[in-house]
Amino acid sequence: MGRKREKDCDRCCKSANTLYRVQFDESGQWQFVCDLCWSIVRQNNPHYVYGGTWKAHKK
Ligand SMILES: [Zn+2]
Repeated sequence: MGRKREKDCDRCCKSANTLYRVQFDESGQWQFVCDLCWSIVRQNNPHYVYGGTWKAHKK
């Protein structure tokens, strides 16, 4: 097993180089979502909170 440099989106489970740390539901839990999901979850969402961006380290 190699070490993964990418994270998976918590919403669609696809791996991505850039993920957005957000809260978007009543649970108040931080989740990492990809670019596409980010654009979806932040629309008209009273629970949406942005907590930063995660980027994979490149060598
Ligand atoms: Zn996603």
